[in-house]
Amino acid sequence: MTKYSQIFIASSKYVQGRGVINQIGEHISLLGDRVLVVGGKTGLAVTRSGRAQSLAAKSIFQVEELFRGEVCDAEIERLTAVAKQNACNVLVACGGGKAIDAVKAAAAELKLPAVIIPTTAATDAPCSALSVIYKENGEFDRLWILPKNPDLVLVDTEIICQAPVRLLVAGMGDALATWFEAEACYNSGALNISGGKITASALALARLCYDILLKYGLQAKIACESKLVTPALEKVVEANTLLSGLGFESGGTAAAHAISEGFSLIEEMHDLTHGEKVAFCTLVQLILEQRPPEIIQEVYDFCYKLGLPITLADLNSAQVSATKLRQAAEISAEPGRGTHNLTVTISGDVIFDAIMLADALGQRIKNGQPIV
Ligand SMILES: [Zn+2]
Repeated sequence: MTKYSQIFIASSKYVQGRGVINQIGEHISLLGDRVLVVGGKTGLAVTRSGRAQSLAAKSIFQVEELFRGEVCDAEIERLTAVAKQNACNVLVACGGGKAIDAVKAAAAELKLPAVIIPTTAATDAPCSALSVIYKENGEFDRLWILPKNPDLVLVDTEIICQAPVRLLVAGMGDALATWFEAEACYNSGALNISGGKITASALALARLCYDILLKYGLQAKIACESKLVTPALEKVVEANTLLSGLGFESGGTAAAHAISEGFSLIEEMHDLTHGEKVAFCTLVQLILEQRPPEIIQEVYDFCYKLGLPITLADLNSAQVSATKLRQAAEISAEPGRGTHNLTVTISGDVIFDAIMLADALGQRIKNGQPIV
């Protein structure tokens, strides 16, 4: 690998649609015949009947194991032991981000195929070759770049639309950053997670992700509120799960994610989802980059319409001290953080001022005042 390599990575197979859980047996039969299924209570429950019937039809043995809630080394070891005891040759995750990351890591340990059945569209974890590992007490430990992406990602939109609307919208917040971060990395020549430069394909997929959100985001939210699987919902689920996943992994992340990492210092934000924080931090990135005012307006309007945060008050942080916000900004400006993947010179002060301006612009939008 040289600094001239362009690298694109992806899951081997992506299946999406209404009721596709009923086809899981056909797809898994190509990978193995003894399956360890890991998930939280809800993740296991909402996939159970379709999974049982479909696996039985292909004579595939399955054993369920309840995920204990944290992606830590102890839990990954425990899951690998359960897989070995049952002589499993495929690992399946049913659920959200953490169960998915634990199964991807355990499958990598065992060198076995990983199958991901996300039950929400809240994150872009399902398709990536990356697990976020925490310590047993819940503190961040490390990012684990896995040797390969999942072998199968199966997304049943009938299941996804039963999950809380807030999770679908949060997924749109995370996906909103994808295009702006990928383009920033492309322009600055930053490397993506697999250590290569961005391909034109990854950039195009990231752009498609943004276009789908703008065009279908609100319709998808409305459909999800009524638990309806519509073409708009299908497109947004694809944007949140597949396009955002491919876009961030083969595109790269920049200031939106780095500033949201800095925000982990602020306790008042702990009840917010990853995607909600990333949405606001995308606005901050656009300000840092001096994007055209029309683009900034477009992204504010999108977030406001969808109910994504556009002010610090929306992030429960109107009362957070300037000192604390400045500390968060300093963290996101540390060497090696994604803020340095922009083409502008970064410091804690520069980021702090952009956060405060993002908040001020958000307040103007809410008061019906122009920002262009
Ligand atoms: Zn993200």
